[in-house]
Amino acid sequence: MTELDRKQDRAPVPKDWTYAPAPESRDVVTLRERYGHFIGGEWIEPTETYETIAPRDEETLATVGQATAEDVDRAVAAARGAFSNGWSDLPGSERAKYLFRIARILQERAREFAVLESLNGGKPIKESRDVDLPLAAAHFFYYAGWADKLEYAFPNRQPRPVGVAGQIIPWNFPLLMLSWKIAPALACGNTVVLKPAETTPLTALLFCDVVRQAELPPGVVNIVTGDGRTGAAIVEHPDVDKIAFTGSTEVGKAIQRRLAGTGKKLTLELGGKAANIVFDDSALDQAVEGIVNGIYFNQGHVCCAGSRLFAQESIYEPLVEKLKRRLETLRVGDPLDKNTDVGAINSKMQLDKIVELVEAGKAEGAEIYQPPCNLPEKGYWFAPTVFTNVAQSYRIAQEEIFGPVLSVLTFRTPEEAVEKANNTPYGLSAGVWTEKGSRILWMAQRMRAGVVWANTFNRFDPTSPFGGYKESGFGREGGRHGLEPYLSFDE
Ligand code: ADP
Repeated sequence: MTELDRKQDRAPVPKDWTYAPAPESRDVVTLRERYGHFIGGEWIEPTETYETIAPRDEETLATVGQATAEDVDRAVAAARGAFSNGWSDLPGSERAKYLFRIARILQERAREFAVLESLNGGKPIKESRDVDLPLAAAHFFYYAGWADKLEYAFPNRQPRPVGVAGQIIPWNFPLLMLSWKIAPALACGNTVVLKPAETTPLTALLFCDVVRQAELPPGVVNIVTGDGRTGAAIVEHPDVDKIAFTGSTEVGKAIQRRLAGTGKKLTLELGGKAANIVFDDSALDQAVEGIVNGIYFNQGHVCCAGSRLFAQESIYEPLVEKLKRRLETLRVGDPLDKNTDVGAINSKMQLDKIVELVEAGKAEGAEIYQPPCNLPEKGYWFAPTVFTNVAQSYRIAQEEIFGPVLSVLTFRTPEEAVEKANNTPYGLSAGVWTEKGSRILWMAQRMRAGVVWANTFNRFDPTSPFGGYKESGFGREGGRHGLEPYLSFDE
């Protein structure tokens, strides 16, 4: 029985209160044994390959290509050809039709995509079904609406497409990040070469089917798979006009160095170490839900995850008690089970990184709490974790863990909350929990973060710009702002 149960004379959550298995069927997905690169509307046989697996049980799902510099060159040539041979001159209303078509096909095939996303990436099916897929379709719908209104979005600036966009995306939201990249690029009249992350290529490859189904002209969207070497080949290609990158700060910095002085446009969406700040006047139960959503959503593989909880001292104890109690009810397990809250860690490499940082937290003196849960033997798993007694200098309070690990710190005054929350090299997002509207505005003005959520967390909407300050990158995706990186202006 927890302290809170005792105080409130309440029965503890029964430990054996389990749900019957409710697995989503895999039948809706037809996997090929082997995938090539999608270039100029055709499947190109890869010269080098690797196997992509399911992180929940390490099952091999398919063989995919590791694109070489020659493959990338071919993809860029296809994109350049499509750009010059009509796509960039199409009236915006015609481009919009293709985007609307893609959006509708994504909706029609949502279950297939959701199952494949959970299988290849490890995220719970209820998230891929209820978050990733609806948002991916919404992104295409939203930017379809802008395609014929660019002159109104930027009056008197004569917006023109940039040309060929090279787009490199991470593994935490594979299809959603693809949509964030491809939808605005196409709406503005560009063509693209996109590379999904090496651990999660399959929904991007399935998307090629959608591209064909939508009868997009060949070469407008090209998809090459592979690891960082393929990414580097895209960055270095002389005929790429713009790079859009989402991933680690380390690789982002390397790309920025590489592109300095080349005249290529660049947007970077990098890491984060967001503060989620809970004031003593907030609705605590609601805040607990927001904290859980902030850090355990998608196993914490979220760049804007609320990984540092700042609790006002006066409510620290009840908040932590409530949080621990809530953690006991999280269901960790098979990503394809409809009741799963926390799925598999995306890869062995990521699991090792999480373990290393958690060990560092313990060694530095933080107190660890993990609810009892039976983790499957095969695959990559990590129990939801809370660290208390965390000092600001600890690695777990400084570095991005990108896993289901929360560090709890405290503060006394709003000024101290601001000071501590901003004490990070990152600046992607922040959360504020308080009943006072004036305090929300006061805090929002002082947070050095691209997004500040008030009494909620991890809310995404295609109409709302998203992006970072400081080492979290630059440039915005989403909203009208998200068009700008894909346009040149006569000024
Ligand atoms: P994460 O830590 O999220 O895996 P990475 O930055 O390593 O972040 O990966 C994000 C994306 O960047 C992936 O698609 C990866 O293949 C790609 N990538 C990795 N290294 C490079 C590089 N040197 N140049 C370009 N892209 C890279």
